[in-house]
Amino acid sequence: MEILKLGGSVVTHKDSLRTPNAEAINRLATEVATAGPRKLIIVHGGGSYGHPLAKEYEISTGYKSPRQLAGFSLTHQAMVELNMLIVTAFLEVGVPTISISPSSFIITEDQRMTTVDFSVVSQAVDSGFVPILYGDAVLDSVLRFTILSGDQLAARLAIDLGASKIIFGVDVDGVYTTNPKLVKEAQLIDELSFGQMRSMIKVGEALSTDVTGGMLGKIREAGAAVEAGVDVQLVNALKPGMVHDALRGEKVKCTWLRR
Ligand code: ADP
Repeated sequence: MEILKLGGSVVTHKDSLRTPNAEAINRLATEVATAGPRKLIIVHGGGSYGHPLAKEYEISTGYKSPRQLAGFSLTHQAMVELNMLIVTAFLEVGVPTISISPSSFIITEDQRMTTVDFSVVSQAVDSGFVPILYGDAVLDSVLRFTILSGDQLAARLAIDLGASKIIFGVDVDGVYTTNPKLVKEAQLIDELSFGQMRSMIKVGEALSTDVTGGMLGKIREAGAAVEAGVDVQLVNALKPGMVHDALRGEKVKCTWLRR
């Protein structure tokens, strides 16, 4: 079984509110379809759907005021909307997707997933479906509610269901020596060991989030999967054919995270 995580920067236009990247979604659906039948779970991010609302209502740090309750629902509904577009695109090219809403079966504990019953997801895969989940606003036993990132979810699915690989589709070619969007001289790293990932996280933590973007969090979440023996591959899902080739196990420009 494999997990394909499609970043919010891939499935949406991050800079315009609630704007799907329809071209990328349709192309990726075709890439998954033409890669052939396989045991696959897809997780997508929120991009310009979930993030602006989650930020406006400060959902990730939990309950502070009653107005956040509607904000929680709005954030979740925005994700449902994006998920519907994605599920529809995959169905149109014949991928038997099934939408599974994380907030309906996952409760986090201080922002982290603890014991989760993934039996619906695994049975869906065993029955021939391709479940599509997403980063979501979820209930939290400590904070009342929070945001569960698609990255944390993808890593946990991989660990708990024994996936062989997670492919993270992002808007850059992989992990660079520094943020490639800010520094022209940034160099792509072909492979990072678990130890190298750990020191990268240490260095990154000392920098501002502006510099590290979402990559640091991704490496941190992926690290748990790598430690459990899952191979992680980061590819540029905005480049046509990359996800298809990664699914087929062909050699592509990417970063591998391996134990
Ligand atoms: P998504 O939301 O699509 O899952 P993010 O936007 O959270 O992905 O993370 C990817 C972004 O991380 C890239 O677009 C890039 O700007 C940023 N980034 C920061 N540091 C690095 C790095 N060292 N290597 C690659 N990308 C980086």
